[in-house]
Amino acid sequence: MILPRLFPCLLTLLTLQPLCNQPAVANATAWSTKEINGITYIPLEHLRSFYKFTPLRPQNQSKALATVGNKDVRIEFGPALRETTIGGTRCLLTHPLRHNDEGDYLISLTDMVKLIDPILRPTYIAGRRAVRTIVIDPGHGGHDAGTQTSWVREADCTQLVATKLKEELSRRLPEVKVIFTREQNQYRSEQQRVDQINSAEAPVFVSLHLNSGRSDVRGIETYTAAPAAPGEQPRPGNVHDTANAALAYAVQTALIKGTQAQDGGCRRARYSLLNSANCPAVMVELGYATHEEEGKSLATNEYQIKLAQALAEGICNYARMADPATKLAFIEPPKVEEPPTPVKADIPAAKPDREKKAPRRKAQSKKRKAEPRRSNKKKSNKRRR
Ligand SMILES: [Zn+2]
Repeated sequence: MILPRLFPCLLTLLTLQPLCNQPAVANATAWSTKEINGITYIPLEHLRSFYKFTPLRPQNQSKALATVGNKDVRIEFGPALRETTIGGTRCLLTHPLRHNDEGDYLISLTDMVKLIDPILRPTYIAGRRAVRTIVIDPGHGGHDAGTQTSWVREADCTQLVATKLKEELSRRLPEVKVIFTREQNQYRSEQQRVDQINSAEAPVFVSLHLNSGRSDVRGIETYTAAPAAPGEQPRPGNVHDTANAALAYAVQTALIKGTQAQDGGCRRARYSLLNSANCPAVMVELGYATHEEEGKSLATNEYQIKLAQALAEGICNYARMADPATKLAFIEPPKVEEPPTPVKADIPAAKPDREKKAPRRKAQSKKRKAEPRRSNKKKSNKRRR
C-alpha cells in the first residue's frame, strides 16, 4: 500500500491533533506500508526521516539492530525485536520489528503513533489536560497480602511507599489533590478502585505493586494498557494510549535514575484495572520481592523513600508535560507541507458507550487478568530466559 509521506502525521489526526496545525515541509513522495498479520508496518527509515534523525553508530557493547537520533535523544532498536531504548530508558514494542522483502526493518504504526511519538513529543498528545488529582493505589491490602517473602510483604511495602509518595507530591504539587484507593491495611475490590479513579477530577492513576519471579530476576517495570489489536474493541483505558506511554516513560525513567535499579522497561499489558481506568494510568512493579537483595531493599525505609522521591519526580515531569501551557518536548515537531487528508488508520477510536460495558466484561474475565502479579511473573521469566 502506498500512502502519502506524511502518513504518521495523518494518523496523528486521531491522537495528536496539534501537529496537523503545523506549517509545511516536504513534497508528498510516497511512504510504503506493509500489512503483516493484520498489523500495519512502515520502514524504520520513514520514522528516521520523519523526525529528521541521523543514523547513529551503536554505542560500545550495544547489539542494537538500528540506532537513530539527534543531539537530544537517541533511539536504539533491538537486539530483541520488541526492544527499544529511548533516551536511555527501555521500552517494549507492542509488535515486534519485522523485515520487508528488501531486508529493511519495519516498525508498526501502532508503536510509532502510540509509543515513540508521545514519548518524543508529549506536548502534542491530543486532549492533554492539567492534572488535578493523583490517585495512588497501594496494591493489595486486608486479607490480600500480595507477594510475601521472608524479606518483604507486598501490601505493607506498597502502602509505606504510597504514604511517602503522597508527602512528596503534596510538597511538590501543592495545587494537586492526592488521594489513596486505601488509607490503611484494608481490602478494596477492583471495582471500588476503578470507581474511585473514574470519579476523580482530571486524574492520573498510579498503582503500586511488587513483582515475583525467579530468584535471580530483579528490576522495576511500568505497565500501561495494551493498545487494542486489529478488530478488537478498544477499552476505556485505550482512550489514553498516547498519554499512557508518556506517563509510563516519565515514571520509569525517573525510577531507574533515582534508584539505579535494573530497567525492566515500559511495558503493555491487558490488566483489567488499567483497561478500565478512564485517565492516564500506570501500574508500577517497584521491584522483585523474590530477589534477595532487592526484596531486602524494598523493606527498608531508606529505599522506600528513594522510590517515593523518584515516583514523585516522574509524576511531576508528566504533570508538567500534560499541562497545556507547557511547550517542552524532546524534539521539535516535524514540519508539514500540505494539509493532511484523512487516511483510514488501523488505530480504532474508543467509543463512549463501550466504557459502560467494560466493567461487566472485566468481571467475567479470568482471574489471571485481575492478578497482574502472577501473569507478570510468568511472562517476565520467559522474557529473561
Ligand atoms: Zn501486586
